[in-house]
Amino acid sequence: MQTIIEPFRIKSVEPIHFNTPDQRAQILEKANYNPFLIKAKEVIIDLLTDSGTSAMSSNQWAAMMQGDESYAGSDSFFRFESTIQKITGLPIVIPTHQGRAAEKILFSILGGKGKYFISNTLFDTTRANIEFSGAEGIDLICEEGKYPSIPAPFKGNMNLTAMEECILEKGAKHIPLCILTITNNSGGGQPVSMENIRSVHQICRKYGIPLFIDACRFAENAYFIKIREQGYQQRSIPSIVHEMFGYADGCTMSAKKDAFANIGGFLAMHNEALALQCRNLLIMTEGFPTYGGLAGRDLEAIAVGLEEVMEEHYLQYRIRTTEYLTNKLIAAGVPVMQPAGGHAVYLDAKNFLPHIPVNQYPGQALVGALYLTGGIRAVEIGSLMFGKYDEDNTLIPAALELVRLAIPRRVYTQSHIDYVAEVIIEVFQNRDRIQGLEIIEEAPTLRHFTAKLRPVNH
Ligand SMILES: *Cc1c(COP(=O)(O)O)cnc(C)c1O
Repeated sequence: MQTIIEPFRIKSVEPIHFNTPDQRAQILEKANYNPFLIKAKEVIIDLLTDSGTSAMSSNQWAAMMQGDESYAGSDSFFRFESTIQKITGLPIVIPTHQGRAAEKILFSILGGKGKYFISNTLFDTTRANIEFSGAEGIDLICEEGKYPSIPAPFKGNMNLTAMEECILEKGAKHIPLCILTITNNSGGGQPVSMENIRSVHQICRKYGIPLFIDACRFAENAYFIKIREQGYQQRSIPSIVHEMFGYADGCTMSAKKDAFANIGGFLAMHNEALALQCRNLLIMTEGFPTYGGLAGRDLEAIAVGLEEVMEEHYLQYRIRTTEYLTNKLIAAGVPVMQPAGGHAVYLDAKNFLPHIPVNQYPGQALVGALYLTGGIRAVEIGSLMFGKYDEDNTLIPAALELVRLAIPRRVYTQSHIDYVAEVIIEVFQNRDRIQGLEIIEEAPTLRHFTAKLRPVNH
């Protein structure tokens, strides 16, 4: 088979700044072992997130020049709205400045004490917005999704039995919404099958619970359905996407992911009454409903990006990139989540660093080692991000200790990815030398963004 090439030429470039391991050791110490506190300039390959880090196309830049910056009723809004209506089939479209703004509005209205939101896995900002409202979020990932090293085609699926049991236990009237995260970001960028989306839809219908899709990576999910699910090989990506959204009552979306935009998001839905409440809040926190915290040019970039992201040559290259890196790591014996996720490669830090107990944050320790060795910035998705404390202040660890290497869209080439593999393998060969970490300062919510840490034997 021929090499799957990057399906673009490069017209504009940005220099990478190099530094030495000694300089990086100082930088890491100064940043209190938290990569969020390192300057981007001090990073060689930045895999912190795929959010807002996409390279825009020449067509997106051209569209931005046509941005209509009118306060109300701008042309750009109508292009944005009609694109989303066409792609999703959802009639009401509300722009927001990013995904979490859509979540904040939705959960302020639907949340509150005594309410439960059920999901395959809630993303961290989604969970935070639910909990901030006083409600509780419940993750009901399928069995396969719990074992990082055992491959399965759709590890992002909802556990349907657990879902129905949960509804019966909590009572449907206390569950304002079911949320399917597509692909499942915190669960490893793993896809959800069409069959699972359909079944979740049927269970939701049976109990009168609306279904929303957290649609950040809808195109990647559709591509996985096309290549892995029976009956979809001949279907176009837009038709698969349309079917996916057809089972939903609405969606939240971060345009910083599968819309190739550097900022933006939206809410879309069928329910007029809910939309009215959302727009009222939107005006208070984001802006008038035809711009929702975005410039007209942002709306244009998103509208173009949403179409481009569904191109098959792009999706083939995209999904191949994470698979290529994962395969190199598997060949070297590195414990990595299998199969590769859509937007990221996930290292299994518990098995990578078995000598570091979970209360010394093996994921965060590994993140530090990747930076020291190769200037690579990754993020922990484990007990630093999701850990809680019990009454005795003992850590209740997360189910998995992962390190996510998120691949920005259309930004890095194959040689960058080869370099990343080399660095990870070098760290793996020297893993015995890596030390655990302890927290010295943390915030009450979303602590991983700002927490300060230090090595346990400092
Ligand atoms: C990024 C993301 C969000 C939040 O979107 P922001 O634009 O970062 O606010 C919500 N859900 C998922 C699955 C995400 O990946």
